[in-house]
Amino acid sequence: MSFTSDHIDTECLSEDTAGLTRAAALLGKGALVAFPTETVYGLGADARQGEAVAAIYAAKGRPAFNPLIVHVADTQSAKTYVEWTPAAQQLADAFWPGPLTLVLPLRPSHGISSLVTAGLDTLAIRVPAHPAAQALLGAFGGPVAAPSANPSGRISPTTAEHVATGLEGRIAAILDGGPCNVGLESTIIGFDGPKAVMLREGGVSAERIEQVLDQKLHTYADTAISAPGQLLSHYAPRGAVRLNATQAHEGEHLLGFGEIAGTHTLSASGDLAEAAANLFGHLHKLDALGGAIAIAPIPMTGLGRAINDRLKRAAAPRD
Ligand code: AMP
Ligand code: MG
Repeated sequence: MSFTSDHIDTECLSEDTAGLTRAAALLGKGALVAFPTETVYGLGADARQGEAVAAIYAAKGRPAFNPLIVHVADTQSAKTYVEWTPAAQQLADAFWPGPLTLVLPLRPSHGISSLVTAGLDTLAIRVPAHPAAQALLGAFGGPVAAPSANPSGRISPTTAEHVATGLEGRIAAILDGGPCNVGLESTIIGFDGPKAVMLREGGVSAERIEQVLDQKLHTYADTAISAPGQLLSHYAPRGAVRLNATQAHEGEHLLGFGEIAGTHTLSASGDLAEAAANLFGHLHKLDALGGAIAIAPIPMTGLGRAINDRLKRAAAPRD
């Protein structure tokens, strides 16, 4: 499934000063740049620009929104986005840069797009070790959201050629840093109060993490954290949700789209990337008003599929 129709001339950049400067400039403009990490090639976008993050979903043809991992250059930068803890510091000291992702509460005024976290109040963040990733993040100086750089449902890419085969013509550039050497995903660790929780097994083993923290890791089953696959049911509006509405009924606030203007409108011009970028933020704002939420129809084309998937879950009966 492809979401994009416009063909882009994908630039192939090398990891020299010119290539890195170009890659950083493209990220700054909200364009997508694939880059190597020690796990797989990531498809990067500026995590502060919602429409750039929406473009990741469009390029991958991902039919659903799930939270993305943000990559930063060093521990110091990570601390500007999330609430830091002594356990986070121990793990960062031991494993960063490297294939370990920490899930921590977002700080106030973090500036990260709510499309990155899919509306959650925690952020998954890591410092990758690959020299090209390090150099790019250093040159860019901001947070980069990056899932694997492959079309949805296809094998994760470990060379620039793999990325080109899947995404050529759909992304602005590929930073070629040679083959990735871990090939495994990053280990994801979350926290539930004092408990450290294994959210996904990956490049750093549970045993090594337990050694550093001097405690047993928990599974999400014995914590308040939901399983990664169920993350999104974590965020459903409190009030009832009605889809395909052309106007608000009594007691409802309308989430508009295109010609249907609401209390908040996803995109007045009917732009699906703008709508995706606004989705979680607008749902939160409407939910905060109290009452029920009526939602204007969103076309089932391109990014509209992922938007509708999310809205359908929000409207589904809950227990
Ligand atoms: P990837 O496809 O490698 O980018 O992996 C992203 C993974 O990180 C998904 O499995 C998500 O469920 C997980 N993840 C991202 N953000 C969060 C978060 N805030 N809380 C828990 N898990 C997260
Ligand atoms: Mg993937």
